[in-house]
Amino acid sequence: MLDDAHPGDVPILIDGLPMGFHAACPLTTSSGSRLGAFWLLDAGSRELDQAERGLLQDFADMAVAIVERDLAQGKLNDDASRLEENEKRLELAIAGSGTGVWDRDIQSGCIHYSAGWKAIIGYEESEITNRIEDSYTRVHPDDLAYVQATIQAHFNQETESYAVDHRIRCKDGSYKWISSRGKVVSRGGNGEPLRMIGTTTDITAIQALAEELQQTVDLVTSLTNEVPGLVFQHRLLPTGESFLSYASAGIADIYELTPQQVAASTGPIHAVIHPDDLEAYRASLHASAASLTPWHLEYRVELPRQGLRWRQGDARPRRLDDGSTLWHGFITDATERKRIEGELQEFATIDFLTQLPNRRHFVVRIEQELARIQRTDGRPAAVLTFDLDHFKAINDTWGHAMGDHALRCFAALLRDALQKHDFAGRIGGEEFAVVLPDASLETATRFARRVQHQIAETALLDGSQIVTLTVSVGIALMHATDLSADLSLLRSDGALYRAKERGRNRIECD
Ligand code: GH3
Ligand code: MG
Ligand code: MG
Repeated sequence: MLDDAHPGDVPILIDGLPMGFHAACPLTTSSGSRLGAFWLLDAGSRELDQAERGLLQDFADMAVAIVERDLAQGKLNDDASRLEENEKRLELAIAGSGTGVWDRDIQSGCIHYSAGWKAIIGYEESEITNRIEDSYTRVHPDDLAYVQATIQAHFNQETESYAVDHRIRCKDGSYKWISSRGKVVSRGGNGEPLRMIGTTTDITAIQALAEELQQTVDLVTSLTNEVPGLVFQHRLLPTGESFLSYASAGIADIYELTPQQVAASTGPIHAVIHPDDLEAYRASLHASAASLTPWHLEYRVELPRQGLRWRQGDARPRRLDDGSTLWHGFITDATERKRIEGELQEFATIDFLTQLPNRRHFVVRIEQELARIQRTDGRPAAVLTFDLDHFKAINDTWGHAMGDHALRCFAALLRDALQKHDFAGRIGGEEFAVVLPDASLETATRFARRVQHQIAETALLDGSQIVTLTVSVGIALMHATDLSADLSLLRSDGALYRAKERGRNRIECD
């Protein structure tokens, strides 16, 4: 009861009637806040006894209870609508991502699908039953056993969660690829699954993309396997480890290896590269990686079945974000080309009749020798020129074939007289030259004399007739100060001229 309740505080005139009595009770909520007061008004005057006062208090309490209940209900309604809004938002977000939600009561066999789930396979909200056995009829027959086994494994707590990709039949009869993920969220006392919830995502587009990708991979593999040689992708990690991240079937021919053998390391390739070429092989790749320039190398391999073969490698490098170098390229068999090149080289440098270096090649070699002397500040080399005497008469008397035979004999004799670093050449019709590195005029003279003796003793027979052959020799030294090797050849030729002049079968020094 409000002690301070008096007529001055309240409207005491109702419809113009003066109030003879008023009493008030405060309306205080359970949390202590004041809502107002409960008033009893009367036109006449009266007294309230104790029981009446208690009754008034009860009315006030009841009024507070009613107001509090209304307030609570209002708040509940607010919360519920907020929750609904959130749910809608979530549903929209899930539907937008092509994902549906399901909630399965395992014991009763009921499964609830969200509208988004039904939409994935083309059904309206009310068109699908909530029975689990019906849901299995929509799974592709080829996938059913796998799906059920995966679920069972999760029911049996063998897996943390359930995840499976499979095909499902849509309303129009077509199949879609979906990815289902779920988890048992409540279990009974014995661990039996009671409730499982999960999501389903339409992965048809991803699956189609994966299939397309696989087809592309198959195409690339088929193409590269048809190309003769090895098509590869070679990766060098910043740690220095390297491996072939792709190798076509041609690796069986090129290295007599399998793609698997080089998938983790290029070690097996290094093992078949010829030891003399391994350093160049490593250095060439290193240089290509360092400067990102194309890799090109011709090198030899020593293979268990094929033996010694030539290989040619070409590849383009690029740098990856992690600092790796990645080459794409191919290796081909260069053995036959190398053989032909070798033959051509021989044709170009070797004289066919005598099998000695021809004049052009001899000149290249004598220039190299001069460069070596100049580079190493080495001792002079002796340059000897030989010219068979009266050779025209040999041809004229015994025939051209005998002349050829004589030239071959002399060349063989000269070649046999050479030591490791010496070299000879046929520099004219019946003219030859020899370079003896690091040799004095005396050494060279001894060499020339030996040759003269041998040719004189060589029996060139025509029937019972012995054909004798002599040779004149000119000798000069090639010095580091010579501007060109030609000069020493000219000096040697000058000495030879004198040998001819002075009667032939002679040796003259510059
Ligand atoms: P000299 O003692 O002054 O050197 O007299 P020569 O007859 O040897 O010199 P000349 O230069 O007059 O003749 C060289 C001859 O060598 C002429 C040429 O027919 C012959 N000849 C050059 N090349 C060949 C060849 O490949 N085979 C044969 N059979 N003869 C050749
Ligand atoms: Mg001559
Ligand atoms: Mg001659």
